[in-house]
Amino acid sequence: MRKAKKSKQQGLVFQEPKDYELDPNAMIQTFDLTKIYNITEGIEIRALNGVSIDIKKGEFVSVMGPSGSGKTTLLNMIGALDNPTSGAVYINRTNIAHMDDKQRTNLRLKEIGFIFQFYNLVPVLSAYENVELPMLFAARTKQEIEKNVNKFLDLVGLSDKKDHLPSELSGGEQQRVAIARALCNEPSILIADEPTGELDTKMGMEIVKLLRELNLELNQTILMVSHDPMVGALAERILKMRDGKIIETVDTKN
Ligand code: ADP
Ligand code: MG
Repeated sequence: MRKAKKSKQQGLVFQEPKDYELDPNAMIQTFDLTKIYNITEGIEIRALNGVSIDIKKGEFVSVMGPSGSGKTTLLNMIGALDNPTSGAVYINRTNIAHMDDKQRTNLRLKEIGFIFQFYNLVPVLSAYENVELPMLFAARTKQEIEKNVNKFLDLVGLSDKKDHLPSELSGGEQQRVAIARALCNEPSILIADEPTGELDTKMGMEIVKLLRELNLELNQTILMVSHDPMVGALAERILKMRDGKIIETVDTKN
């Protein structure tokens, strides 16, 4: 960990390291990120071991690596779902470690859309109501909500299934609802943790192609975990992880 000092008023305060070079074009930047889980007394797992990445605005980046290599942990730090042990995460050039709980909640709600492997839809709500939910939390106007829910359900190709419950939709369709839900507050970043993990190859490819089209159309920054090489190859850049580190970066544009 870099130097941290105790402040009398605020408890632990992290000093801003002077050598963090902020990239003006970055949407996501991490510096020397580490995460250590203390399993039991004396047993530690180093889930992240010094990860520094720089993702530009509008980029579509895939994170690949074997199970347990730290992919989800990395996404959770970037999505402000958990705190790193040391290092820093900057979203749009703001260090999220400096945010209070309210600012973090606001960041997660408005700036970051999450897509998970198991869709995480509310089973008793229709497709429309599932997409509407984060907009209700973000206190958007009635008109905005109606406009965006319809717009994003349309973009993911589900206009005709608005009233269906998740149980009345296929896996691929449920993931499309989850994508519309992640997009409805118009976040600058989409974080997707194995979004194709529960789908067959064809459906998985369709979902990732849809993400790529949306990325080109709406210009959000996408960070997606996948362990399917075909899926990962649709991204512009692949970050390969192993044992909590980025071991290789592959540029698929070349
Ligand atoms: P991946 O997503 O690449 O499969 P994870 O980020 O989930 O990997 O996990 C990285 C390592 O950290 C693994 O060894 C995992 O067991 C451990 N780990 C993840 N979350 C926790 C936790 N909440 N408590 C303890 N260990 C954890
Ligand atoms: Mg994972």
